[in-house]
Amino acid sequence: MQPQVPLAMSLHLAPATALPQGPADTVVILPAGTTSLPPEAPMLPEAAQRYADEQLAAENKLFAVNLYTHRLYVVVANEKKSADLTAEQLRRSGHQLHAKLMAAKVKALHILDLTSDKSGALPLAEGLYLTAYQFEGYKTDEKSKKPAELEHVHLVGVPEADVQQLENLLQGVTLARDLVNMPQNKLTATDFAEQMSAAGERAGFTTETLDFAHIESLRMGGLLAVNQGSPEPPTFTIMEWKPEGAQNPKPYVLVGKGVVYDTGGLSLKPTPAGMDTMKCDMAGAAAMVGVMYALAKNNVPLHVVALIPATDNRPGGNAFAPGDVITMHSGLTVEVLNTDAEGRLILADALSFAKKYQPELVIDAATLTGSAARAIGKEGIVAMGTADEDVMQALAQAGRRTHERIVEFPLWDEYAEHIKSDIADINNLGKAEAGAISAGKFLERFTEGYPWIHLDIAAPAYLTAPDSYRGKHGTGTAVRLIYNFLIARTNSK
Ligand SMILES: [Zn+2]
Repeated sequence: MQPQVPLAMSLHLAPATALPQGPADTVVILPAGTTSLPPEAPMLPEAAQRYADEQLAAENKLFAVNLYTHRLYVVVANEKKSADLTAEQLRRSGHQLHAKLMAAKVKALHILDLTSDKSGALPLAEGLYLTAYQFEGYKTDEKSKKPAELEHVHLVGVPEADVQQLENLLQGVTLARDLVNMPQNKLTATDFAEQMSAAGERAGFTTETLDFAHIESLRMGGLLAVNQGSPEPPTFTIMEWKPEGAQNPKPYVLVGKGVVYDTGGLSLKPTPAGMDTMKCDMAGAAAMVGVMYALAKNNVPLHVVALIPATDNRPGGNAFAPGDVITMHSGLTVEVLNTDAEGRLILADALSFAKKYQPELVIDAATLTGSAARAIGKEGIVAMGTADEDVMQALAQAGRRTHERIVEFPLWDEYAEHIKSDIADINNLGKAEAGAISAGKFLERFTEGYPWIHLDIAAPAYLTAPDSYRGKHGTGTAVRLIYNFLIARTNSK
């Protein structure tokens, strides 16, 4: 059965060599400090020109000039401390511009970038595209579905390859958002595996899903324990992108937490500000699907494997219990002190499974700890790991480029104390302090033999209030970050 996935974006990006001859809705991006409309901008009637110059003189950074048959929109780039921050400002301008385009029912827009380095059109289009995303979900009333007015954005003078790469990447982000936004009764572990397989068919990567019996034969004790209280079987999906001429002899391996719903298990969560948003507990896995989609669609010359352990976490009659000792896929024993610290249990099995690929690097992403959310909020991603400093620096740089910024937390030896157990090798809970780190310290025990980075996206993965182009609900956090990081590791860039 082909699952219904919403790749519902009706907006498309396209390159253009020049502005069209006739009237066309256009946005010009002007350099910071512009005080009058430059001659390269579309010619305006005298009164309109005067109006635009007045707006520029008044330092209005975003305004529309109504030309009756069409509109000219003006965006003035901000003078920021770095090119990365300037790009982020343009993404945010794209978000604001989107509201104006919707109000004027604009269907097609041309972007003409008049800044000196011509780097403004892509981030502006990115902000427009990500703002245009909406999850229509399951409404039956046609009238309540907002019509997607904007259908085409043409980027004047931007190479086609750059435009196509961006659109494929943004489709990966919206795919991740869709998966996060689907509730658990529409996205069981089995449904999720089918969605990954369908995404693979669309994008061109392969998928293999291990079923319950196979997971049992692999002795994935973490995944099996978390799944015990659920009527739904777990899945373990392996996505692989291995193009001809891949530049890396050893693959990059991505691991995503796929808890399709987290009640906390017997250590039950409260409903408000707890269980009510827990369909998002597979956002790490969704991000990896988005990355794989973008890599394959863009034919990126890297060998990349993604591992997705998936299950819900429920308190059914067979549920694992606080105090249980379980044996993991690696053979290590874990004393379960809280069944709501389940993410690390399923990730740990995937991390030790990853060893067989002899990875160049393993990156995991997970909505793992409230501690990470409390430490830095939705503004960033908590990162830690055993990869070399230059690898972590490259990731931080990709974070600044995409504005999915990381903050590195330490994994000092002393934190191993936090997960000591009296009766097993380690416990799954840690202490009241440094919870994001003890979770990382736990995962580290399963990462022998390869360099590794752990991303805790607990806060930014899912927003209960809108935030510019990130929108509301699933954000697709970490898709752009990881994709950009990987791209920078190819020889071609
Ligand atoms: Zn949990």
